[in-house]
Amino acid sequence: MFEIDWKTPHLWRRNAGLPGKRYPSLDGDANVDIAVVGGGFTGLAAAIAAAGSGSKVMLLEGNEIGSAASGRNNGLLISHHSKASPSEIEAALGPVYGPRYNALVAEAAPVAFERMRRYGIDCDQVQKGWIQPAHSAQALQRVRKFCKEWQAFGQQATWLDAAEVSDAVGSRYEGGWLLHNSGHVNPYAAVLGFAAAAANQGVDIRETAQVTAITRNGPRWRLTTAQGSVTANQVVVATNALTGKFWPGLNQAMIPIQVFQGASAPIPPALRAAILKNNPAVSDTRRDIRAFHYDRDFRIVTGGTHTVWFNARERGLASLQRRLAIAFPQLGNTPQVEDYWEGVLAAVPDRKPRLMRLAPGMLFGGIYSGRGVALSVSFGEKMGLWAAGKLDDAAMPIPVTDLSRVPYHPVAVQVARRIHVVHRVQDRLS
Ligand SMILES: Cc1cc2nc3c(=O)[nH]c(=O)nc-3n(C[C@H](O)[C@H](O)[C@H](O)COP(=O)(O)OP(=O)(O)OC[C@H]3O[C@@H](n4cnc5c(N)ncnc54)[C@H](O)[C@@H]3O)c2cc1C
Repeated sequence: MFEIDWKTPHLWRRNAGLPGKRYPSLDGDANVDIAVVGGGFTGLAAAIAAAGSGSKVMLLEGNEIGSAASGRNNGLLISHHSKASPSEIEAALGPVYGPRYNALVAEAAPVAFERMRRYGIDCDQVQKGWIQPAHSAQALQRVRKFCKEWQAFGQQATWLDAAEVSDAVGSRYEGGWLLHNSGHVNPYAAVLGFAAAAANQGVDIRETAQVTAITRNGPRWRLTTAQGSVTANQVVVATNALTGKFWPGLNQAMIPIQVFQGASAPIPPALRAAILKNNPAVSDTRRDIRAFHYDRDFRIVTGGTHTVWFNARERGLASLQRRLAIAFPQLGNTPQVEDYWEGVLAAVPDRKPRLMRLAPGMLFGGIYSGRGVALSVSFGEKMGLWAAGKLDDAAMPIPVTDLSRVPYHPVAVQVARRIHVVHRVQDRLS
């Protein structure tokens, strides 16, 4: 369905300076306690947690580690919900799961940064906060609510008036807030670092091991790939947006959304004094979101999406140039854009992640609606502990449900591909 060129090295791969495939394929038949399907942040965190609890774990990645969303995203680690405030989450999830899920999200970025330190991962991590600037007076009310509620929750968050936020970002905004415990990373280096940590922990990682079927084998599960199979007591499924048809209906539990990313040429020191001061992570309140941060060489990394994907690279480069020129007039009318790549994220209409028991002993988790870099680490760890028998359903951060499909899935997929056109109009009107 998506024709992503995942082989051409992009900015994050070049910065990481790491080779592609590093782990063997699956040959023959294996036997483990826990099989993890999917080698992104979720699957790797699950595998590390399960192996750390004493289980024999094999992780099957269909392509190469870092080839999907975890290695191709914008790199923002944000300890805030996707478009909801803590009280709205509590109203939706109730008095038990609401506060618990709020606490998980509040800690998601610091937990991810801590794990990077613990595993010795060098991914150009910068924990200097995340700024959410408001693009309109209406949006200003929303971000004021987010800031106040998280402050009341105990988060270190600072309100920024229009002058302060415009000065910090280097772009004109109505006001905003700074969430101090968040930041940004090179996500490709991060996900390969988590894979190395998993391997050190004894996880048997297999790449180019696409699971094509999961079937019952007595009380256990058998996972089939083209070259071999693995039998396991428990299965963790962390296949996110590229979930295929190995389990009936699972790919209809989410809406895959294709987006592009890119980066400017390195910004010279004189301009850096006025743009993204103090190296924050930034994503604004537009529905057609604008996100910015520096990579290690002070390129501005940002992104967008297309309605139709013909001539996508050339049109994407032009769009990135326009976006940068509008956001940062200091760069002139035609700032240089040096990188373009694409990825696919998984979303659901209510923007809350999912934990779904596909069958006894088999748990799917993920779908972060564009907010998964930090959250997937905490989420994956809980899933790994669940599979290792250290946590039961009642202790999970959100309710464990049965498989739940997105209503009218084919229609929802088509709407999601075009909705940003409406979003752009709404952004101008609001
Ligand atoms: C362009 C882009 C920008 C983004 N920016 C941000 C951001 O700045 N901040 C943020 O918080 N979030 C962002 N996101 C979202 C974030 O990247 C994801 O939420 C997160 O990486 C999800 O991790 P994951 O491990 O669940 O899934 P993935 O990283 O997608 O990993 C799933 C893995 O499963 C494998 N797989 C699938 N099917 C099979 C199978 N049958 N057998 C074996 N393996 C299989 C896939 O190959 C893949 O490697 C962005 C996403 C994209 C695409």
